[in-house]
Amino acid sequence: NRPMPDNFTVVVLGPPGVGKASLTSQFMTSEFIGVSDNTYRDGEKTISVLLDGEESTLNFVDPVIDEVDFEETPIDAFIVVFSTNDRSSFDVAADTLHQLRHEFVTNKAIILVANKIDLVRKRQVTADEGRAVASQFDCKYAETSAALNHHVDELLVGILSQIRLQNDPE
Ligand code: GDP
Repeated sequence: NRPMPDNFTVVVLGPPGVGKASLTSQFMTSEFIGVSDNTYRDGEKTISVLLDGEESTLNFVDPVIDEVDFEETPIDAFIVVFSTNDRSSFDVAADTLHQLRHEFVTNKAIILVANKIDLVRKRQVTADEGRAVASQFDCKYAETSAALNHHVDELLVGILSQIRLQNDPE
């Protein structure tokens, strides 16, 4: 008899094309995937993660695609994705962070994700710029390539670690 894993909701934000769907589907290939049911189909991306001997399930929600009643579903974390080869997506991400922190007054975990770092020669946003905006809004910062599956595991673990820290600051 295993105990029921904790179930957390993660909202994935970012304009079309930055790699949100690619990232969440790459999570499924992680070495941290646990034994509970993993589902990945339209409107439902539930990923079981085994970290530090404890299993949690993360529900990834794209509010543009998925129909979710946020009155019913408490949010545990946000990931705000931009593409490092598209400066306008970085501007959108900065606006989103501002809204989350100042309009919704959320104290939830937020991770700013710089995706597509494999497109080195097309890069328009430096790591220093990304880190600066993340720290301005008290967010974690991660750089990934969903295409090459680089640092995607670290992002998955980082999301869960942040949620656990938030829920149990001791
Ligand atoms: P979404 O609209 O934010 O969900 O973005 P998608 O996951 O559908 O990705 C949009 C496009 O970017 C697709 O053609 C992906 O193959 C591509 N893509 C996603 N992540 C990466 C990445 O890390 N590097 C590169 N080069 N392409 C990527």
